[in-house]
Amino acid sequence: MTLKVAVLPGDGIGPEVMEEALKVLDRVSAKFNVEFEYREALIGGSAIDAKGNAFPDETKEVCDWADAILFGAVGGPKWESLPPEKQPERAALLPIRKRYELFANLRPAIVFPALIESSPLKSEVLGDKGFDILVVRELTGGIYFGQPKGIFEENGQKKGVDTLVYYDWEIRRIAKVAFDAAMKRDKRLASIDKANVLTSMVLWRQVVEEVAKDYPEVELRHLYVDNASMQLIRDPHQFDVILAGNMFGDILSDEAAMLTGSIGMLPSASLGESKGLYEPVHGSAPDIAGKGIANPCAMILSVAMMLKYSFNLKDAAEAVESAVSQVLDEGLRTADLYRGKKGERKVTTKEMGDAIAERI
Ligand code: NAD
Repeated sequence: MTLKVAVLPGDGIGPEVMEEALKVLDRVSAKFNVEFEYREALIGGSAIDAKGNAFPDETKEVCDWADAILFGAVGGPKWESLPPEKQPERAALLPIRKRYELFANLRPAIVFPALIESSPLKSEVLGDKGFDILVVRELTGGIYFGQPKGIFEENGQKKGVDTLVYYDWEIRRIAKVAFDAAMKRDKRLASIDKANVLTSMVLWRQVVEEVAKDYPEVELRHLYVDNASMQLIRDPHQFDVILAGNMFGDILSDEAAMLTGSIGMLPSASLGESKGLYEPVHGSAPDIAGKGIANPCAMILSVAMMLKYSFNLKDAAEAVESAVSQVLDEGLRTADLYRGKKGERKVTTKEMGDAIAERI
């Protein structure tokens, strides 16, 4: 069977890190005897320059064809003067999420043991193992989209309104993604709500409890969002998978990412019913683009997420993750990770990609 992958390198460091990710994927193909077919297409600023549109029809066709989409990064100073709705991020990423109803955003926050010192947490809190948390955020509902929304006049006063709405089917489908993810990990799930004050969150908790009946192996607990934000800092090891609605997930995933201390290491996945999009958390990093020094690990770990979530190739995904961990243990560091310590060796984007591919 051939697995179809749309490759959208984008702008800035996007093409540089994508090249290393494909190198790793080629190695996975050889080692695990799976075949990938890649089709590359323009996205973001480079698509605006070539086609006058950040998400051109040719790119839509490639994405429609694919089982999974690998996305580098888009944007940069060249396109910042365009009207907001034409700018690469808004005109490329949002339409893709909408077109494929990518309702589930998965953001792992991983501190590799070799990079513990990058975390702002104290070593007493972190221990010597680092941590590995997956935040599953609902991406297409909740208070960011609920109606009515707007600034209205009432009795001569202005009133700003956002509406927090969740339908049971929206909660059920994101909860299933989170439970499925927990089954592929340590089988512990923390569902985040504010059921003590928000009625929509009472429903959230009820539906999560219903879904839990289909996953008896997963240990479920419920936390209020304010407590969860404290617990993340107090002891991140208590979390495996965190499930949250759109706004709480937005905030907690950034908090968890910050605890890792290294943006060049963080992958993400956005999943729909039919396909997934995999991209690093970082942007196009115009300040270092073209210098060959970007850290390709976030893009490479996004490939690992694709293997796990779109293609159910758990062993291959783990091989990629442990290859990344191994090169870090050996002291290889791109410029963003390099501290000049004994045992560290500064490497380029390409050298990092080569080393990871070799270790698979
Ligand atoms: P950024 O993530 O691109 O860069 C922030 C800082 O982190 C920079 O100093 C950069 O050099 C560094 N950095 C990021 N990724 C790195 C990597 N892999 N290796 C080493 N260092 C890395 O964020 P920004 O500067 O706020 O945005 C730059 C552009 O990217 C903007 O046009 C923004 O709109 C766009 N952006 C795109 C996405 C996306 O495509 N999903 C996400 C965020 C920002």
